[in-house]
Amino acid sequence: MRKLIQGIVEFRKSLTEEQKALFKKLASGQRPDTLVIGCSDSRIVPNLVASTDPGDMFVLRNLGNLMPPADAQENSAPAAMEFSVLSLNVSDIIICGHSECGAMQALAEGTACPHLKSWLQYGEEALNKVREGITLDSTLSEHNQLSQVNVLQQMEHVKSYAFIRERLEKKQLRVHGLWFDIAKADVYCYEKSQDRFVLIDEKEAQQILNRIIVT
Ligand SMILES: [Zn+2]
Repeated sequence: MRKLIQGIVEFRKSLTEEQKALFKKLASGQRPDTLVIGCSDSRIVPNLVASTDPGDMFVLRNLGNLMPPADAQENSAPAAMEFSVLSLNVSDIIICGHSECGAMQALAEGTACPHLKSWLQYGEEALNKVREGITLDSTLSEHNQLSQVNVLQQMEHVKSYAFIRERLEKKQLRVHGLWFDIAKADVYCYEKSQDRFVLIDEKEAQQILNRIIVT
């Protein structure tokens, strides 16, 4: 925690006038356009890899970047999604998985931790699919294949909520799947037409932006 505390002091000292003005403006309200559902893993830093500022993204982080389906008896993750969609009117929801995910490894290998075991039930459909041979990239390790399939599974869970489906039908909302490769610090986007995750370079970024403008 030493680094964290020293970092707070350093942050105060190095805050630019521009940053001070941004925080002052943000105090009166937030207008993020995107909900990011990512993993709690310490190596996943959405603001850093997306070069975004405070106020840009509403972020929900939990183990395994999971969204329980609508019929599950869970409130925390659905509440964050409800608030960002119904109160903040975000136009995009991103499920972001990542390589070397400890939650996915625990899901695949089993765990003795009771709360973790219970939480990971929301990834079980993805695990079953991988065990049945469904994969988006067979060159990856089993837990990384699971992590990718899990992104798609959680996208389906997001769409199981009536308030989400309603907005999707009205084209007021989009749901995307991203995947972060830690070793390469590369971000990939799930492309339905190719049924795989595609590296977000300048070309792919343009494709995504074109799609967002069209829909
Ligand atoms: Zn993880």
